Amino acid sequence: MRNDSNLNNIIVFEKVGKIYEPQGDVALKNVSFSVSKGEFACIIGPSGCGKSTILKIISGLDKESSGDIIIPKNISMVFQNGALFPWLTAYENVALGARVKQQDKYEIDFICQKYIKMMKLSEFADKYPRELSGGQRQRVGIARALAVDPDVLLLDEPFSALDAKITEELHQDILSMWQQTQKTIVMVSHSIEEAAALADKIILMKTGLIQKEFKINLSRPRHEQAPSFQELVNQIRREFFK
Ligand code: ADP
Repeated sequence: MRNDSNLNNIIVFEKVGKIYEPQGDVALKNVSFSVSKGEFACIIGPSGCGKSTILKIISGLDKESSGDIIIPKNISMVFQNGALFPWLTAYENVALGARVKQQDKYEIDFICQKYIKMMKLSEFADKYPRELSGGQRQRVGIARALAVDPDVLLLDEPFSALDAKITEELHQDILSMWQQTQKTIVMVSHSIEEAAALADKIILMKTGLIQKEFKINLSRPRHEQAPSFQELVNQIRREFFK
């Protein structure tokens, strides 16, 4: 692997390829990128271009076929549907995350209270997943992932099943959580606007390759009506449909 000069990088992919055996499906061809500590990176691209494969490799759920990677040990993933345990309350789901690192019940309670409050779940802590809305379930999934105190938080299209208003509220709360915790976030999204609203860096993929990386310097909060925001979205859209 090249001697990466940026010591701040927490994730590095260097010429990574992924072939799914035994069919031989090529998911990634020659993918190189890095994510630095505390960065909010977003991977976008059409269906089947390899976004989830990258998340699976970062999370350790899958292994690259070629190339080199650097990934930290402690990673949490938030899935599209929250993937909560239905027989546990919101609080108990978050406590599962906290128990990954903590044994002391007072410490576990402290961690749960902190992230339940951060994700605005205080009044829903005793509810079961079936009693929660889709947005609330995602909030529990995020709180549970944070309770592990991960080096990197992976978000796999966390808002894809939610309506526009709930998504907008969650965007604000994810940004606030990110600013408070200073976590490194890698998120997969199918929305250019969402990526532009949230990320420091957008990695645009096309059929197993990175087509272009966009470094975003717009200050936050970003206003979707602002000409600079519109210009950025148009620039990404032009590349997306190339
Ligand atoms: P995306 O998340 O961008 O929709 P994926 O990473 O899921 O794309 O998939 C990239 C390619 O790899 C697709 O062609 C897909 O069919 C293939 N693929 C993904 N997972 C598997 C698997 N477990 N076995 C075989 N092929 C797979």
